[in-house]
Amino acid sequence: MTNMLIKGLVATAVLTALTGCNSDDETHLVETPVATTCVEAGEECKTFTVLHTNDNHGRFWENSDGEYGMAARKALIDQIRAEVSSNGGETLVLSGGDINTGVPESDLQDALPDFIGMNEIAYDAMAVGNHEFDNPLAVLDSQRSIANFPMLAANIYKADGTRYFDAYKVFDVDGLRVAVIGLTTEDTAKIGNPEFISDLTFTDPATEAAKVIAEIKEANVADVIFATTHMGHYADAQNGSNAPGDVTLARTLAEGDLSAIIGGHSQNPVCMEPGTNAYADFAPGDDCAPDMQNGTYIMQAHEWGKYVGRADFEYFNGELHLASYKLIPVNLKKSVTEGDVTTKVFVSDEITPDADLKELLSYYQERGQGQLDEVIATTDALLDGERANVRNMQTNLGRLIAEAQRTKVGADIGVMNSGGVRASIAAGEISYRDVLTVQPFGNMVTLSTMTGAEVTEYLNTVASFQRGAGAYAQITGVKMIVDCTAKTVAISEINGKDYSATESYSFTVPSFNAAGGDGYPVLDPIQTGYVDAEVLYTFFKDKGTIAAADYAPMGDIEYQNSNSPLGCTVPAI
Ligand SMILES: [Zn+2]
Repeated sequence: MTNMLIKGLVATAVLTALTGCNSDDETHLVETPVATTCVEAGEECKTFTVLHTNDNHGRFWENSDGEYGMAARKALIDQIRAEVSSNGGETLVLSGGDINTGVPESDLQDALPDFIGMNEIAYDAMAVGNHEFDNPLAVLDSQRSIANFPMLAANIYKADGTRYFDAYKVFDVDGLRVAVIGLTTEDTAKIGNPEFISDLTFTDPATEAAKVIAEIKEANVADVIFATTHMGHYADAQNGSNAPGDVTLARTLAEGDLSAIIGGHSQNPVCMEPGTNAYADFAPGDDCAPDMQNGTYIMQAHEWGKYVGRADFEYFNGELHLASYKLIPVNLKKSVTEGDVTTKVFVSDEITPDADLKELLSYYQERGQGQLDEVIATTDALLDGERANVRNMQTNLGRLIAEAQRTKVGADIGVMNSGGVRASIAAGEISYRDVLTVQPFGNMVTLSTMTGAEVTEYLNTVASFQRGAGAYAQITGVKMIVDCTAKTVAISEINGKDYSATESYSFTVPSFNAAGGDGYPVLDPIQTGYVDAEVLYTFFKDKGTIAAADYAPMGDIEYQNSNSPLGCTVPAI
């Protein structure tokens, strides 16, 4: 009893002392005028600028119209850095990840030119994107060692329970301590190459962020906390089949715990209709208001370095303020038609590319072009992509492409529209250039999961498209009978196993068709981000030798009530 009483008394005394302190502080605060602008705050106000890009996807070089490219990006960033520094501020340059995959000249060199370009631009940090795992981990490790800046990911763990990358880094920006946390989409586990990522665990980014934020606060190592993420921005958190993105992250955390999220993955310009949760109708050069959710700004600069996002921040009275925001086009052009003549003109001032970086990268561009002609595989017979054939029957090349796409992501079924197969590959040697003639469109592979009953309904439409049209589907992984008149399918096997209406199955289809192209049912799939030509290239390269007969139709699809055994031909009644 006595003991407890003494403890209680001591506690009361401490409380009284604390209350005393507090009221002293309050008196002190009242006496100091509170600045409401950076100018009023004077010396106390720290200004800094965050520049950001995301989803580079191999675009180190400008396109054939001279748009974007890292040399112009560098010139723009150098110019902004100089301007910010002449006004007494400092600049941080961040990337929202996915440096890898998308352009043959880059893919063939494991994105080496892209990382060299990022070093020359002097990026400060990047988020790790899902496409950083498209190559064996040894390639990623070498990219990490080449990079003069950290790759950050708080939610990727190795088998031994330690993180594969640093969770965050604290930057001293004009005397202000800015922590930047990296986060990666959990979908990486689903769409990454299982061969490369099977030893890694991708944990929930929101849980991981909360943990890291608590750690940063506890250690008192930062004044403001940012995140650079590769999770996608979905307006009003409507992420559909994709893993939750930046909006969910911001809403899940305590209000304002993150000052800003610099994102990537969904490859959209995040410009909102002010005061709403909806995207604004944005065109290059327009004003852009970033998203604001639960006290967190969310920014994303479309893709490929088409824009550099510029956020000018001011910090005073212990608070961060966004003074201005822009998406600056990097030599983007628009078509202008006068009379019969259409020309492309810059949407904003032309940026003269940095000459030194352009020269440095031109070496890699030429080397990459040279590698397009290198032999990646051989085939013992013609792989048939002739328009007249592929739109009228199952062909070895059509089915090989469907097979390449489904194996890339470990799906049960591969569906490929024959309109997306543009050429044959002759018997003999195969180069990347051959692959690009077969699949020149740069469609992405999508991944959907459905019950057997839903797959049946999907294929009722897709398998009964008429012969002769680009919609005619090349399909692998399904044994079925197609009734062309009733437009129904009876599936007996999927991926070598007996069909069940309630079992769950996954399938791939090009993004063009998933969006309803060729009259396909509209899907809400996972966007794997794999470009079709790159998938086909990797498939050939991994196989080395192709036995064309392995991909020939094997009678797994039987067409009934049709004028042809090769597909549906039903005369209009
Ligand atoms: Zn991505």
